[in-house]
Amino acid sequence: MRFGRTLPPAASPIYLRDIFSGIRGCLQGNKETERFSAELREYFNVQDCFLVSSGKAALTLILQALKDLAPERDEVLIPAFTCYSVPSAILRAGLKIRLCDIDPGTLDFNFHDLRKYFQAPHNISRLLCVVPIHLFGLPADVSRLRTLIPDENILVVEDAAQSMGGGSEKGKLGTLGDVGFCSLGRGKALSTVEGGIVLTSREDIAAKIHHRFKKTPSYTLLEHLKLIINSVLLSIFQHPSLFWFPRLFPSLKIGETIFDVEFKVRKLTSFQAGLSRSWKSKLNDFQKKRRKRTLSWRSSLERKYIYELSDNYEVPALIRFPVKIDNAKARERVKKRIKNMGLGIMHTYPDSINKIKELKNYFHGQNFPFAEELSKSIITFPVHPFVSQRDIRKIKERLGPELLQS
Ligand SMILES: *Cc1c(COP(=O)(O)O)cnc(C)c1O
Repeated sequence: MRFGRTLPPAASPIYLRDIFSGIRGCLQGNKETERFSAELREYFNVQDCFLVSSGKAALTLILQALKDLAPERDEVLIPAFTCYSVPSAILRAGLKIRLCDIDPGTLDFNFHDLRKYFQAPHNISRLLCVVPIHLFGLPADVSRLRTLIPDENILVVEDAAQSMGGGSEKGKLGTLGDVGFCSLGRGKALSTVEGGIVLTSREDIAAKIHHRFKKTPSYTLLEHLKLIINSVLLSIFQHPSLFWFPRLFPSLKIGETIFDVEFKVRKLTSFQAGLSRSWKSKLNDFQKKRRKRTLSWRSSLERKYIYELSDNYEVPALIRFPVKIDNAKARERVKKRIKNMGLGIMHTYPDSINKIKELKNYFHGQNFPFAEELSKSIITFPVHPFVSQRDIRKIKERLGPELLQS
């Protein structure tokens, strides 16, 4: 048990003034969500944008729309190590999960395996789409993926849940696929407590999503109230000076990864849109701070612990800094050393997707050795705006020379 300064592994501040603009947003109604949507379309330079209750909801809506476009296809290919929300949205949309192993050097698809996957005709005849994922904000190589896809009917759905604001001048992450999405959940690049953004410039896809979106329910009054209360709790308790408090209640399941298909799919509320009123300057400010901390970790850790970036990208503003530890034992050593220090150093998803308890039968006999190994060894360091120079110094002192550059 720990009292006192405790860093969350990831955090996206919500300020009191955001909550006030959220409440003002409630009074504005649809005008407020329209404003947010228009600003996002301009920022991302896309034709269409749909705002929903979470990243999972955004992905579900996208997949259902793609299925409407190509009813004869029902498989979705994803990396075997990623956030559990991705497979849960696929099942929720009534589709089948297909896995490809990852590259342990980049966390992106293992392009060798991907090429082999696409060579088998039975793998591609029912494949609806492929989902590249910018895990922790590390840009996945979407253009390389595109060159490998053997059939133009197979679409690219870009998961930018963890990378809002990233990318290069040539294109922002979230706009490199046929359709993409960002998450506004807590611990993502920008947060409205919960929320999701669908982005596309493809008219045919937008038309199908629009059709589904129109029929998507709004938050109920009770859900609305919960949301407002949660925004207040989150703005108070995610601060490092108080984050120890909610962690005293295991029933809140803070930091746990849960596989859940029963999440709600709703239109984003005008409260959330109001919360986002100063999103551009907030995102900018957070990006600057995250990039600075990302650079700091990159220059402190020994090279072999750092993930290389695919070409064409500057050092991105990550939302967590993944440390490439290559075995589970070394991870345990690090965890032991920082135990109960409240330094925001965390393992990530407990297992590869094929090992999720609820999905076990689904992938019978299939192995994804890199993903399985990585889930046992990867660890992340915090880079969010609450992390101070002092925190970074403290972590380095605690780690000792093992991971650090000499
Ligand atoms: C968080 C996340 C999602 C889902 O977003 P929510 O808003 O939490 O539903 C999807 N994909 C990835 C990679 C994520 O990290």
